[in-house]
Amino acid sequence: MVKLVFLGPPGAGKGTQASLIADSYQVPHISTGDILRTNVAQKSFLGIQAREYMDKGDLVPDKLILDMVQERLENSDAENGWILDGFPRTVTQAEEFCKKLLSTSTNENETEGEKAKSGNSFYVINLQVPDNVLVDRLLSRGRQDDNEETIRYRLQVYSQQTQPLIDFYQASQQLITIDGNNSIETVTNALEKTVDKLT
Ligand code: AMP
Repeated sequence: MVKLVFLGPPGAGKGTQASLIADSYQVPHISTGDILRTNVAQKSFLGIQAREYMDKGDLVPDKLILDMVQERLENSDAENGWILDGFPRTVTQAEEFCKKLLSTSTNENETEGEKAKSGNSFYVINLQVPDNVLVDRLLSRGRQDDNEETIRYRLQVYSQQTQPLIDFYQASQQLITIDGNNSIETVTNALEKTVDKLT
């Protein structure tokens, strides 16, 4: 069962790679950024609340995100695996997520190997790319929230709020670091090799 969290700063190629890997292994690609952008476009209640944070490059409050992700994971297409892209983004989100996942486990003391068999385990892919490459990539992407000022701010938010997750998942031995400073194909191949070993 493929259950992966993609971690990495804005511009690391998370979205692109998460989507390709989700297609290869036929699991849903769940991007919190995409779900939020759809809500903003639809001017839903969530979208209206989220927009002010997103426009500034700030993180949307944990509670809104956690409810949104929980609802998405309850969808039947996520029963047999998923690729999460852009979530968790904070240690609080990671802790809450873990509690919810483990709450379906019959034995909270099971090892990672046992959890993998019972479907309660997931691995975290950390895509590593140097900062100067990230800024160049983001500037050429041209998304609405991709101007130089918000880019630098989002990178700062990442190192403050999301970088601690790397230590968090390193400690729980779920972290797998992949060099993201390569062509799309090379990174996809490296990811597929890694996923094949895990499943
Ligand atoms: P992304 O497409 O993943 O870069 O996300 C775009 C924006 O959506 C971010 O800059 C945040 O404002 C918001 N966002 C996406 N995922 C999360 C999350 N897990 N927690 C908080 N905010 C998020």
